[in-house]
Amino acid sequence: MPQDYQPDATQQAALAALKNVVAARDWSDQADVLEPHLSDWRGLFKGQAQLLLRPRSTAEVSAILKICHDARLPVVPQGGNTGQCGGQTPSDTGNAVILSLAHMNQVRTIDTDNFTMTAEAGCILSDLQDTAAAADRYFPLSLAAEGSCMLGGNLSTNAGGTNVLKYGNARDLVLGLEIVLPDGEVIDSLRGLRKDNTGYDLKQLFLGAEGTLGVITAAVLKLYPRPRDIRTAYCAIRDVAASVELLARARDASGDRVETFELIPRALVDLVLQTIPDCQDPMPSNHDQHVLLELISSQPDDPGLDRMMEDILGQAMEDGLVHDAVICQNESQRQNLWKIRENAAEAQKVEGASIKHDISVPVSRIAEFYGRAHAAALAIEPNLRLIGFGHVGDGNLHYNMQRPMGGDNDAFLAKKTEINRAVHDVVVEMDGSISAEHGIGRLKRDELAHYKSPIELAVMRKLKAAIDPHGIMNPGVLL
Ligand SMILES: Cc1cc2nc3c(=O)[nH]c(=O)nc-3n(C[C@H](O)[C@H](O)[C@H](O)COP(=O)(O)OP(=O)(O)OC[C@H]3O[C@@H](n4cnc5c(N)ncnc54)[C@H](O)[C@@H]3O)c2cc1C
Repeated sequence: MPQDYQPDATQQAALAALKNVVAARDWSDQADVLEPHLSDWRGLFKGQAQLLLRPRSTAEVSAILKICHDARLPVVPQGGNTGQCGGQTPSDTGNAVILSLAHMNQVRTIDTDNFTMTAEAGCILSDLQDTAAAADRYFPLSLAAEGSCMLGGNLSTNAGGTNVLKYGNARDLVLGLEIVLPDGEVIDSLRGLRKDNTGYDLKQLFLGAEGTLGVITAAVLKLYPRPRDIRTAYCAIRDVAASVELLARARDASGDRVETFELIPRALVDLVLQTIPDCQDPMPSNHDQHVLLELISSQPDDPGLDRMMEDILGQAMEDGLVHDAVICQNESQRQNLWKIRENAAEAQKVEGASIKHDISVPVSRIAEFYGRAHAAALAIEPNLRLIGFGHVGDGNLHYNMQRPMGGDNDAFLAKKTEINRAVHDVVVEMDGSISAEHGIGRLKRDELAHYKSPIELAVMRKLKAAIDPHGIMNPGVLL
C-alpha cells in the first residue's frame, strides 16, 4: 500500500468492502503486484493506487463502482495498458483503485447470420480476430498492439489502426454496449441492430470517453465477410503528394478494395532495420517516401487482384508517381513488411527520445501539412529527425520527431511543449485534429483545453458532471 496517502475512515471501510466483492485471488494491495499497473509502456507517467481489482462479472463491476461512488474513491479502468496517452495510469495522489477488466474475457455469443459477436471488455483484440475467423467471419480492427490491448481499451480510446480506411474506427464497429455507470447502475444495450432510431445514441458517449464516464463491460461488434485473397505492394513514391494521388487512383480503379494504405518513410525503415532484429529491407531504395498498399478480394486465388495491382502500379510508374515497387510473392515477404510497420513505435523507443504527434487533416491536405509542420518544427530544433508515417488513407499521420543524431534526450525533450504547439498550430489551421486515434489521456489534456472550442469543452464538462457527479471516474484524464 502506498505510504504517503492515508485513506480516511470511510475510505478504509470502502477498501475493505471492495476486497469482499471479488474473490481473494482477484484483488491485491501488494506493491509488486500493483507495480506493472502504475505506469504506461512509454514510461511517460507513473502513479500510485490503493488497490488492484480484477472483477469477473458485470455484477462485480457494478458493486465495485457503487462502493467507490459512495466513498468518493477514484477509479481507473485498465485494459491491456498499451494506451499512448497515459489515460490508464492513476495519478500520483495515491488514492485510486485500479479496475482491470482482464478477467472479463469471454466471447458471450457469435451470430454468424447477423454478422455480430458479443464480447467482454477484457478480450484481447487478436483473440477476437481469431474467434471471428474460426466462425468464418472477419473482425477488422487491427493495430500493432493487438496481441495485448483489450476490447474495453479499444472502445474507450476509439482506436483506429490499419483498416480504418475500409471499416472505420472502433466506434464504427459497435452496435451495442453494456456499461456500468459511476453509481453502479448498468446500461444494457447489447442489441445487434443496424437500425435503432429510438432517441439519443447513448453508447456513443462512452466510446472514446477514456474511462471518464463509466466502465464498458461488453459490446456487440460488427463482423464482416472474410477477405479470401490479398495482394500487398511496397512502392517507392515521388513524394508525399504522390501518395495521396496514388491512394485516390487505387480506390477508384479497384472498386474500393484498398484495405490498407500506409505511408512509410525510408528514415523509418532504416530505424527499424537498425534496432529490431530479424527484419529485412523490403526494397533497397534511395527514395525518401514509400507506401504499403493492400488490395483484398472475397474470391480465393483471385487472378483479378494481380491484374488490378499491376495496372494501378504500372500507370502510376508511367506518370512518375511511383519510382519502384515490389509485390509480395508470399506470406513471409508480407509479414516482413508488416513487421517493419508494426515495429515503428518500438524502434523509436529504442532509438531514444522522440516527440510524437497523432494528428489528422483532410486527406487532400496531407502533403501540405507534412511540409508546413516540418518547417515549423525545424525552426525550433534544426537537427531533429522527422519520422512521419502512418494511415494516409484516413488523413492520420504519426508525425513523430526523433532527437538529433547523437543528441541529448533531455535537451530534446525540453523543447517538447514548443514543438507540440508549433505542429498542432499547423494542424488546427488546417481544420485537423490534435488526436486522431490515440485519445487525450493525461498527455494531451492541456492541448485539448487550448484547442477545443469553449462551447465544446463546456458541453463535455456538463456531460461529465451529469453522469459522474462525484468525479470518481478516471480523474485528471481528458478534462
Ligand atoms: C505498439 C503499439 C501500437 C499501437 N498502434 C495503435 C494504432 O495503430 N491505433 C490506435 O488507435 N492505437 C494504437 N496504439 C494504442 C493502444 O494500443 C490503443 O489505444 C488501445 O486501444 C488501448 O487498449 P488497452 O486495452 O491497452 O487500453 P488501456 O491502455 O488499458 O486503456 C486505455 C484507456 O481506456 C480506458 N479503459 C480501458 N478499459 C476500459 C473499460 N473497459 N471501460 C472504460 N474505460 C476503459 C483506460 O482508463 C484508458 O483511459 C498502439 C499502442 C502500441 C503499444
